[in-house]
Amino acid sequence: MTLPHFPRIPLGFFPTPLVELPRLSKVLGGPTIFMKRDDQTGLAFGGNKTRKLQYLLGDALNQGCGAVITAGAAQSNHCRQTAAAAAKLGLECHLVLGGDAPDKPSGNLLLDQIFDCRIHWAGEHRKGEDIPEIFEELQAAQKKPYIVPYGGSNELGTLAFAEAAHELDTQGNHHLFTHIVFASSSGGTQAGLMLGKKMLGKSYQVVGINIDKAETDGTYFDRHIVSLANCAAKLVGLEHEFTDQDLTLNSDYLGAGYAVIGDLENEAILLTARTEGILLDPVYTARAMGGLIQMIRSGEIGRKDRVLFWHTGGTPALFAYANGLDLARRTGKGFLQAPG
Ligand SMILES: *Cc1c(COP(=O)(O)O)cnc(C)c1O
Repeated sequence: MTLPHFPRIPLGFFPTPLVELPRLSKVLGGPTIFMKRDDQTGLAFGGNKTRKLQYLLGDALNQGCGAVITAGAAQSNHCRQTAAAAAKLGLECHLVLGGDAPDKPSGNLLLDQIFDCRIHWAGEHRKGEDIPEIFEELQAAQKKPYIVPYGGSNELGTLAFAEAAHELDTQGNHHLFTHIVFASSSGGTQAGLMLGKKMLGKSYQVVGINIDKAETDGTYFDRHIVSLANCAAKLVGLEHEFTDQDLTLNSDYLGAGYAVIGDLENEAILLTARTEGILLDPVYTARAMGGLIQMIRSGEIGRKDRVLFWHTGGTPALFAYANGLDLARRTGKGFLQAPG
């Protein structure tokens, strides 16, 4: 089954590379591990939101919009990629960010400012609660605003990840992955991979590692992902009703909360960097990789399995969370030895 055509605006470099991680795999004494490098989508340090924005901003341009509004945390990768895409397309960009303006911007926030977007500080409201008010102001000013949903996750953003599953299939048809593991937070990535899997008739398990325990849209996160998958299925004309049965969302690694960097994240960052020369971000991909490492250690993922870790980006946040990194404690001998 192929994907129907929707207006999509090119914003990045695709397909993103698919690489094997033999040294990481060896250190873990575990499965074959591949990585899909969506940290290399090419738009302002890359990330998975580039895929979604190709469809969302394609829709915005199609509707003749002149401004975009979106929301997120101060270190939102989604907001940074939206700001870059808006700059490229000549759209005015408004970001509604949680928290308060810091004295000195760093990481993603520094990049947002380089792209000259208007930042609205929203205190506790990091999920776009204040968007309607700004939308009305922009509308009154005849700017034809377009709302990019939180994390880019609506049926169009989901469609973009169904397309990503198709892209992977053209690169890795022969790989016979048993699991695809990635960070899941606003749900579009996971719902899209679920849809793509169904369309392609694949048997791999789509394993989202839950990053942020907060609810999304007033329904619990798992319900939200299933409903996104169903909305996107309608959009592509797939006759399938996704249910909880189709969903694997692992919530074992929420740690001390969103963007709180702990041992799990530290180990994942250092291990991946020191075995493969690849950077993870502290908030999303390190938590997801930490989860994968634990699942390998516990035997939940076996030695014979073939895992694809989907690197969803986020690396600029490394600079903003430098204080959470524990560089001193983990450089000792034995750190890179295979267990047993
Ligand atoms: C947004 C984001 C995710 C989560 O993707 P969703 O589609 O929102 O679930 C994972 N990793 C990074 C780096 C992100 O920026």
